[in-house]
Amino acid sequence: MTLSEQYFLRAKEVIPGGVNSPVRAFKSVGGSPKFIASAKREYLIDVDGKKYLDLIGSWGPMLFGHAHPFIQEKLQEAIQNSFSFGAPSLKEIELAEKIISMVPSIEMVRLVNSGTEATMAAIRLARAYTSKDKIIKFEGCYHGHGDSFLIAAGSGVATLGTPDSPGVTKSTANDTLTAIYNDLESVKKLFEANPKQIAAIILEPVVGNMGLVLPKNGFIEGLRDLCNQNNALLIFDEVMTGFRLSKSGYQGLTDVKPDLTTLGKIIGGGLPVGAYGGRKDIMSMIAPSGPVYQAGTLSGNPLATTAGLAMLELIENNPNIYTELAKKGAQLKAGFDKISKDLNIPMFVQSLGSMFTVFFTAQEVNNFTDAKTSDTTLFGQFFHGMLNKGIYLPPSQYESWFLSTVISDEQIQFIIDSAFEVLENFK
Ligand code: PLP
Repeated sequence: MTLSEQYFLRAKEVIPGGVNSPVRAFKSVGGSPKFIASAKREYLIDVDGKKYLDLIGSWGPMLFGHAHPFIQEKLQEAIQNSFSFGAPSLKEIELAEKIISMVPSIEMVRLVNSGTEATMAAIRLARAYTSKDKIIKFEGCYHGHGDSFLIAAGSGVATLGTPDSPGVTKSTANDTLTAIYNDLESVKKLFEANPKQIAAIILEPVVGNMGLVLPKNGFIEGLRDLCNQNNALLIFDEVMTGFRLSKSGYQGLTDVKPDLTTLGKIIGGGLPVGAYGGRKDIMSMIAPSGPVYQAGTLSGNPLATTAGLAMLELIENNPNIYTELAKKGAQLKAGFDKISKDLNIPMFVQSLGSMFTVFFTAQEVNNFTDAKTSDTTLFGQFFHGMLNKGIYLPPSQYESWFLSTVISDEQIQFIIDSAFEVLENFK
């Protein structure tokens, strides 16, 4: 038995399912998860000493690879001044100013500790601002594990087949209306059926949590119009896409401005940080400047803000990364499209910048129903084949892969060649 297998047995005795976040357990792909001892640049090293080329990047934050020396150095400096003050500090202002300067729709921002906290707070704020109760989310989008979002959710909840979690009360569930991604008609119908009741639409403008799914032309613009017509707020959940698709996130690729934005992952440089921000008139309603309560013992933590600020400085100082990452993504897509053709295995290969997914299906994937046509058994076999070759993919069909700047063109070719060899056996 490997050390990872021994640890997994031990973990299952004391931690539900042996993990602190469900998708890590390899439940949908089978087998035993790798316990990681360390990570450097593009590699994860497990407790048995095996090295993996990492295409998860801690589920998004590791844009520049693991343990970047600049972030490490800044953290080492910061730790000398202790780890939590529970009082304001300069780094919080600097991080807020940096976010505001990079994401044009954000005029004010509040730091929290996770993406979940950010989305929960954002809808509370939207409800308070509009004096309405209901929200619209899209089937297959994931916004963290707040009760209101565990309705037709994507990511790990989709992977485990429990998109509507037990424990969420009926009244909470009734306030979450679900629409179909890329289908404006489904949104219009919800507004018609619930007049003057909808506070906000929240969405991943580019979805990572059904696997990667892109908005069709006019979809996001249509949502903006519907929100304007119905006095509802538009919330972009950019926890995944923020600072990944461009230095302004998805917002850097479109003219549409949301009223509120939620952030996480990259913004903490690998430490626990989330944020929500947007129009000043809305954000001013948050306590203590307004009545909408939201707080956090560790919010604005000096280590987390230091790592986040260092990460955003790295991004600003390396403006070419997004073009370079997009080239790698395109190379990967071309490679998989060719594999699909050469081996005659149906695949829908989706890429945008450094986000990437191979759906094992013959049809285009534009929403969650499409994503679910994927052959998840084949995905599981593919996942393990790649893992054996030292390539660490997300252990679920319904997740995006994330490229980092430290993955070379040769390594992209290695991923393509390995995928060919693995899939050749399933022809
Ligand atoms: N929103 C999106 C789009 C996410 O992808 C995630 C996590 O993957 C979250 C919210 C929740 O963030 P966290 O896991 O930090 O609570």
